[in-house]
This record gives sequence, C-alpha cells and structure tokens, in this order.
Amino acid sequence: MKDPRTELAALSVALRERLERARDQGRTSILVRGNVVLPPASATEAASPLPASAGAVPSSRTSAPSSPAEPASRGKKLPLVPIEPELPDRAQRLAQLAEVAKQVSVCRECSLCETRTQTVFARGNGRTRVMFVGEAPGADEDRQGYPFVGRAGQLLDQIIDAAGFDRESVYVANILKCRPPNNRDPKPEETAACTHFLETQIELVNPKIICALGRHAAQFLTGKPDAPMGQLRGRIHYYRERIMVVPTYHPAALLRNPEWKRVVWDDMQILRREYLR
Ligand code: URA
Repeated sequence: MKDPRTELAALSVALRERLERARDQGRTSILVRGNVVLPPASATEAASPLPASAGAVPSSRTSAPSSPAEPASRGKKLPLVPIEPELPDRAQRLAQLAEVAKQVSVCRECSLCETRTQTVFARGNGRTRVMFVGEAPGADEDRQGYPFVGRAGQLLDQIIDAAGFDRESVYVANILKCRPPNNRDPKPEETAACTHFLETQIELVNPKIICALGRHAAQFLTGKPDAPMGQLRGRIHYYRERIMVVPTYHPAALLRNPEWKRVVWDDMQILRREYLR
C-alpha cells in the first residue's frame, strides 16, 4: 500500500497545478466534487428544470431543511470553491458583521420594532462570494430569528441547490430586518430606515454576485425603483457599479405561480455562469 503522506503530497501538488492553471485562464472559481475538479455547467445541466415539486413544499421546519424534494442537480452536487485569495481582513469583517447583528437586534428606527418577536439578520456563510437577498421576514422567520426558514425558504434552498451552489456556503439576508404585520409590503419609510444595515452587510461580505429575490430586493439593488420585475429579471445589473445583481422571482411568488419555475431556472443559470466567469 502507498504511504498516505506521499499520496496526500501528490494530491496537493496536482490540485495546486489545477488551481494555478484555472487562475492563469482568468477563472475565479472551480467546481469540485470530492477531490475531482469538474468543468463548469454542461449543456445537459443547463437544460434541467427546477424541481417539479416547486409548488408543493411542506409547510414549516424547525432547523435545517430535513429532506426537501430532490433538486434537478441531484447526484451532481457541485460546491463552488473560490480560488482567489481570501480577503486579508476577513476575520475583522466577520467580527464587524457580528457587531452589526447586535445593533440590529436592538434597533428601534421604525415602528416595526413594536410588532416584531425578534429581528432577523442573516443566515449562511459570511465568507461567501454569493448572496441572496429577499424582502422581509415572515411569521416563521420572526419566530425563529433567521431568514427564509419557512415554506418559501425551503423552496429557496431547492433553488440554491438546483443552481449548483452549496446552501451552507451562501449568505442570505433581507431588505427589512423585522416582519411587517400580516406580511404586508414594506412601507417606503421602513425600507429607508432599514437598508443601511443591508448596505453594510454587502460591504462586509463583499460578494461577487447577488441574487435579488422579488421586486423589492431587485428594485433596491439595481437602483431602479420603478422598474417592473419582468424588465429586471433575465439579465445582469450592478449594485453600486461594482457587484453583479441577478434579479429573479421571489420564492413565495413561485409557490403561487409554479409555472414561473422555468424562468427562475434560467435566472439561476445566469447566476451560475456569471459567478464562474
Ligand atoms: N420572504 C422573504 O423575503 N424573506 C424571508 O426571510 C422569508 C420570506
């Protein structure tokens, strides 16, 4: 049998060579499964639809998703591994994020603080290059303190999976950090009072690309407050002329209109392609 140390050394040399080659080709990430380096999405993958179960997700969950319906990428889960050097001040950024979460937890900048159970800051990994931004917490999120943990959240997890991302390695946040009563739309004064928190989250996480979920997030992140979703989705925009934004329909809208899953799938292909570019 081979000495495992020799084998490990050989593997790490091979991996380093592959990473350097990818970097020389101008790529900022690679796809890996186990220790196998895979090429970006193939034409066959790009043709796969979102799960047919998109409109029939179980009603709630208490912690991590138990076993959601299998995504279209079943059997080829491809965690995306950034290969660019880690930001030198990442640890400091994560500490600052934790500090902002504390400020949010006691925020009284708008009247939603009167009706919330608790604030909802973020879930996922602050070291990521991919962010998903929704509208506002619903009843489940208000109860549990994390974004997208209810029915729409289960569908979002399926969408993230189907797009080929690892759901634990993306960062998920909302425009509003408190639940609007009866899940009504955010009022302009609530958005105005709250978005500086999201802006700080984006600055600290420094993603390469953001997926805007629904009209409110899309209009805010693209800086086009009057544009309808139909005009925003399907193409790349820029947040502050720097970070790519891919708008798509909100998972809650997709639960009501399962026939939109094809266009959401198309948007996820844009997200994935631009992330890998
Ligand atoms: N809808 C959102 O926009 N955000 C959540 O966190 C949950 C539902």
